[in-house]
Amino acid sequence: SGGPDDMPAEIWEKVKNHPCYSEEAHHHYARMHVAVAPACNIQCNYCNRKYDCSNESRPGVVSQKLTPDQAVKKVLAVASEIPQMTVLGIAGPGDSLANPKKTFDTMRMLHEQAPDIKLCLSTNGLALPDQVDEICKYNIDHVTITINMVDPAVGEKIYPWIFWNHKRVTGYEAAKILHERQMLGLEMLTARGVLTKINSVLIPGINDEHLIEVNREVKKRGAFLHNIMPLISEPEHGTVFGLTGQRGPTAQELKAVQDACAGGANLMRHCRQCRADAVGLLGEDRSEEFTLDKIDEME
Ligand code: SF4
Ligand code: SF4
Repeated sequence: SGGPDDMPAEIWEKVKNHPCYSEEAHHHYARMHVAVAPACNIQCNYCNRKYDCSNESRPGVVSQKLTPDQAVKKVLAVASEIPQMTVLGIAGPGDSLANPKKTFDTMRMLHEQAPDIKLCLSTNGLALPDQVDEICKYNIDHVTITINMVDPAVGEKIYPWIFWNHKRVTGYEAAKILHERQMLGLEMLTARGVLTKINSVLIPGINDEHLIEVNREVKKRGAFLHNIMPLISEPEHGTVFGLTGQRGPTAQELKAVQDACAGGANLMRHCRQCRADAVGLLGEDRSEEFTLDKIDEME
């Protein structure tokens, strides 16, 4: 018991110790991200590549990029210092699945060397259908897909291009391919029993009303949580949305969309948009204690 809204009991059983999904667990269990995935295969209008991917992370921070070997070393060091460390995620700084070798080398080594740590990753979904077998191989039990639209006419305002089949695709066609890959990836994960959360970035005037339809479509395809996050628009951090100076939503606008989705997919309301190299309990960031030089000193 204690699960949010109408989450089925068998799903609550799986996520109740996960700090990101359970209000209760986030006081007791820690998570960390390792930044092993620098490249991205799409362009979001709200992204400046100098900073972490906003699929999962707060834009405007620069995480320390690691090789898979460095990442594994760091996870093992953190797990020995912070016994509550239960969840390891790969959330950038680019797209985890646009860097499949780095992401899955890391996951494979952790699956072998630290089998008790739960693994998760976040992605824009473009490469997802091709990677579902790998995801299942390492027992990755949570995937987050960022889905900002289910209509390419909305999508073309958000995504200027994707990199697809070795070439750049733009406009409506790009958004249509991305949309189809996101839906297919979600359906494949659900069919394989992988818990899938959807993140959406609320962009005022672009997809605010539309997110209600996104909520309906992702729930229909088995997403267990829908996390509607505000666009964080800070020009000094390079969140420029084309060149138009797009603003982020007010707290009331965010709540209005979240409320309008009530009764759809379960909403997550306490995601902190942690940086791609976050370490510790939610709401605390101990990443500075675990930089590579400090880990070397620990040995
Ligand atoms: Fe940036 Fe992430 Fe979008 Fe790629 S998916 S463009 S890294 S926000
Ligand atoms: Fe959890 Fe959200 Fe932080 Fe990811 S960004 S670790 S889902 S709180």
